[in-house]
Amino acid sequence: MSFLHTVEYLNSGIIDSAVAKIETLSEQDVLKALERIPVTPEGFMALLSRQADALTSDIEILARELTAQRFGRVVNLYIPLYLTNSCINNCLYCGFGSKREVQRKTLTLNEIALECQRLLQEGYKSLLLVAGEDKRWAPVKYIESAIKLAKKLGFVFVAIEAGPMTEEEYRVLCNAGLDGVTVYQETYEIETYRKVHPSGPKKDYKYRLDTPERAARAGVRSVGIGFLLGLADFRKESLFLGAHIKYLRKKYWQTSIAVSFPRIHETPSGFSPAHPVSDSELVQIILAVRLANPDAVLTLSTREASALRDRLFGAGINQVSAGSKTSPGAYIVDPAGNQAAKQFPVVDDRTPAEVIDAIRKRGLEWVFKDWDLNLRPVS
Ligand code: SF4
Repeated sequence: MSFLHTVEYLNSGIIDSAVAKIETLSEQDVLKALERIPVTPEGFMALLSRQADALTSDIEILARELTAQRFGRVVNLYIPLYLTNSCINNCLYCGFGSKREVQRKTLTLNEIALECQRLLQEGYKSLLLVAGEDKRWAPVKYIESAIKLAKKLGFVFVAIEAGPMTEEEYRVLCNAGLDGVTVYQETYEIETYRKVHPSGPKKDYKYRLDTPERAARAGVRSVGIGFLLGLADFRKESLFLGAHIKYLRKKYWQTSIAVSFPRIHETPSGFSPAHPVSDSELVQIILAVRLANPDAVLTLSTREASALRDRLFGAGINQVSAGSKTSPGAYIVDPAGNQAAKQFPVVDDRTPAEVIDAIRKRGLEWVFKDWDLNLRPVS
């Protein structure tokens, strides 16, 4: 039985009732939720309510304490490396969509080596290889070679964010040194999912939803999940996300769960998010997810502005990217960005040194690798 059964069950009116119930919760319900950390499923609902807004400072303190208890006063740094922006999908919210006339580029192995060496020189040890879904340019063999190369050159943790693969393909990549797979469901709402993924293999909701499980069964040490903030009601999505985390923790207890909070900011022409998420709502979601899931690695990317990221370092968030570029070759092969389009604009464009300085100013330490963090089994 996969998580799809849970989604179908929740969609049979359960999730809508839960969202309606959230609307009725009071400040007292929020205070009651905070009496027991980690919070219960009912407490998680209370933390997503409008009433939680007035108690954000208290909630933030508790989230900061819980994050420090589980991960130490440490923020882990990682860096994405785009391998290709070629893609056969047509996600309406993405600049790499197949119907968009943009400059496409796929890195050669020599170019991947140059980019990796540059990132290693900056101190990075944890790498996220990102690729659009296009087996003509980025077949499994190519991704396997990129993983092997990154490991050989010195990265200690290598994850991928690429098109969903079969369990056997993930097994091949694990044998090549793959440590983690990130795959966002984008939206758990089946109808919305169908609308924003009109063509390409990604339109298969179920296959995507099952991906973290195929990766976990293949033996990856970490799976990363999340939804794209802005596509559907954030309270509803957060409830689905909470159920997804719980399901994966229970069934794949030996796999570390990482959760990201990608929020739509700029969109390609012709698309605007139906449910934009504000800064305070983003903070609310992150704090609620932390207080319900002490062991999950919570990640925040450079999509968000520096002030907001600084506030969230250690307040739920324990892993961040810094100095990111979102087009293939952007670190050294094509730093001017002449050869390839970006997936999305980086909002926090500080250098890694500036981000590290900001982490220190929050009274936290930073690490480029955290063996324990990435290997810690979920209890
Ligand atoms: S979000 Fe991913 S799958 Fe969709 S068009 Fe962009 S690169 Fe392709």
